[in-house]
Amino acid sequence: MSEAVAAEAAALPVVETFHSLQGEGLHAGRSAFFIRLGGCSVGCSWCDTKHSWPQDVHPRQSLRELAGLAAEAASEGAAFVVITGGEPLEHDLTDLCTALDPLGLPLHLETSGVGVLSGRFSWITLSPKPHRPPSAAVLAACQELKVVVHHKADLAFAEAMATAARAGRGPDAQEPALLLQPGWDSAEGQELAISYVRRHPAWRLSLQSHKWLGVR
Ligand code: SF4
Repeated sequence: MSEAVAAEAAALPVVETFHSLQGEGLHAGRSAFFIRLGGCSVGCSWCDTKHSWPQDVHPRQSLRELAGLAAEAASEGAAFVVITGGEPLEHDLTDLCTALDPLGLPLHLETSGVGVLSGRFSWITLSPKPHRPPSAAVLAACQELKVVVHHKADLAFAEAMATAARAGRGPDAQEPALLLQPGWDSAEGQELAISYVRRHPAWRLSLQSHKWLGVR
């Protein structure tokens, strides 16, 4: 079977697809098409997409169909495609990226870094979790490191992750952008993150603007 035929034949469990604005990180505010894949075993207690955890309950959609939906979004202004979850790296993303490649849109990945890095992405957002540290490969490849802050210990974890991310890449490689994102509804996290960013200019604040605005 050729690579193109294999890509068309494959399918992945999909929680939802939608065209909206990226709400978080350095690309916040830009038009994006989201593909939220089902499946996550990382088990964060504060997860806001727990419905995405099981794989089996979400209908499998063909890669051809997903590419068609992304093409439609691109024709309506989407500037890039975000593969999110769940934890997308619980799937081999090689064929999905192959199916999306002809659109010519940048492909972004949002991951906790658990699992084997697959696919080809122009932007990787790594949001590492203290209880399930990310792989060295994702740390070395990410363009932005976004750490969710609930408690003081999360700040030390963020610095440890930044050190590991820098150490894993060559001297000429670009360093990842460093972002602290207060946990939603966490007054302590908000205070800690704002105070830390004010005193540590290497970091910047990331807000979940879509939640503040009440949009997807
Ligand atoms: S990795 Fe993401 S989707 Fe998985 S439990 Fe944690 S926050 Fe939720």
